[in-house]
Amino acid sequence: MRELVTELRAWLAWAQESGLQNLAMDPRPSPSPNPPEPTKVSPRKLPLLQSVIDELGDCTRCKLHRTRTNIVFGVGNPEARLMFVGEGPGEDEDLQGLPFVGKAGQLLTKMIEAMGLRREDVYICNTVKCRPPNNRNPEPDELNACEPFLKGQLGAVKPEVIVTLGKFAAQSLLRDSTPITRLRGQWREYEGIPVMATFHPAYLLRSPGEKGKVWEDLKQVMKKLGLQPAKGGAS
Ligand code: SF4
Repeated sequence: MRELVTELRAWLAWAQESGLQNLAMDPRPSPSPNPPEPTKVSPRKLPLLQSVIDELGDCTRCKLHRTRTNIVFGVGNPEARLMFVGEGPGEDEDLQGLPFVGKAGQLLTKMIEAMGLRREDVYICNTVKCRPPNNRNPEPDELNACEPFLKGQLGAVKPEVIVTLGKFAAQSLLRDSTPITRLRGQWREYEGIPVMATFHPAYLLRSPGEKGKVWEDLKQVMKKLGLQPAKGGAS
């Protein structure tokens, strides 16, 4: 119980610092026609994620709300040791309200399984929760508006490692415009959490010859987390 109270206090401090001022004050859900929910229930961490969902509500904090079908909050284990952060929802994700469910998502699932994990063992989300029109890059004002919710997810899940997928997620999370070809494979930090940047699975679908580099990046992550690869490793 004491551990939970300590964790809750730390997370609330983090959330308030991130601009989520109302979390401690008003736990009532905001009206939302499509509130996506994490897939796995944890009695300890889910209330924290639910608070972020409640704060998000039917968000209109940036212009991306005008063209979205669904808010794509994130899915996975609320107690995941590993969190994947992509750029933003695509068409399939926008329609289903879930991250990484298209072809790139299927490849991400294979990458996770090659690491000896199941998709439901990790937590998956994006830097922005609404689809940018025509899959354009999110703009700085949109990233700034949505970042408190990513911080809220990180504060709730408290992953041991973050893997960013693709140039944009790495550059926006790390606030570093270094090309992804040089960012990838290097340990960095976000809010004190080790970050490994690697290529986006959509890029791997176009350039399968780059899969080996991603596997090298994921092997570093596995080493940090003490994971053993699945039999056969990456394919
Ligand atoms: S992208 Fe984020 S801040 Fe913008 S409307 Fe969607 S949920 Fe709100």
